[in-house]
Order: sequence, then structure tokens, then C-alpha cells
Amino acid sequence: MTSEKVKGVGRPPQTDGSGKQIAKTHVTLLLPVNLKEFLRRQPKMNMSALFTRVVTSLYLGTICPKCYDDSGVHQTHVGTYCENCSNDYRSFFFIWNDCPNCKLQYNRNNMSHNIKDKIGCQTCLKEVKA
Ligand SMILES: [Zn+2]
Ligand SMILES: [Zn+2]
Repeated sequence: MTSEKVKGVGRPPQTDGSGKQIAKTHVTLLLPVNLKEFLRRQPKMNMSALFTRVVTSLYLGTICPKCYDDSGVHQTHVGTYCENCSNDYRSFFFIWNDCPNCKLQYNRNNMSHNIKDKIGCQTCLKEVKA
């Protein structure tokens, strides 16, 4: 099949954080027959998507769910991000930790702050200022 024939058909190719296409390869799996039959009975079952999702979930925090690589994964007190999928303007966080002070989850709008002698979040900061 030439690339011309598939152009415009199906969904756009999956890309990593830098826009590079995710290279894919075939694997052969040896599964219990009952498991295979169970999966076959599930509606809209896509074995490739399922396997990718399960393995990514299993290793989330170790590998990045966007580029499937572990080389750029870093943990900070705010959360876990992938350097390979980040740019100068935005870090690609895929796990957000909770603020140790108020237990609210950090996110792009609720980042870490030094408040007096402790670490808090934007929400904690508002309460201190109020
Ligand atoms: Zn990544
Ligand atoms: Zn907080």
C-alpha cells in the first residue's frame, strides 16, 4: 500500500509532543484462549489500542503516555512531566500531585507557591491573602 492510497483515510497519525509521528511495529502475543475469546466478544475491541493503553497505564510515571519513552520523564513535587514532550512555553505534565497543605490537586492553574515557611498552591495563597 503506498502512502498516497492511505492519504486522507482513517484518523491522522499519532504524534509525540514535538509533532513527530509515533513509529509502530507488530508484536505477536500468546494469550489464554478464554481471554482472547472474551476480548473478541467486547464491542469495538481494538487489541492494539487496548494493549497500548494497558501497558501505558501500568507504567505511568515511568513512561510518558504521549511519546511512550522513559528518557525524558522527570518527577517534581508538583507532578511528573516529560521533557521530550515539553517546549519552552509549556511542560507536559501527565501526573499532577496534591498540594501537601490543602490536598487540592496541582494543575496548570493551581501551581506550587512558597507560602511563609511551607509549600502550598495558588488556592492556599488566596486564603493567606484573604
Ligand atoms: Zn513524552
Ligand atoms: Zn494548597
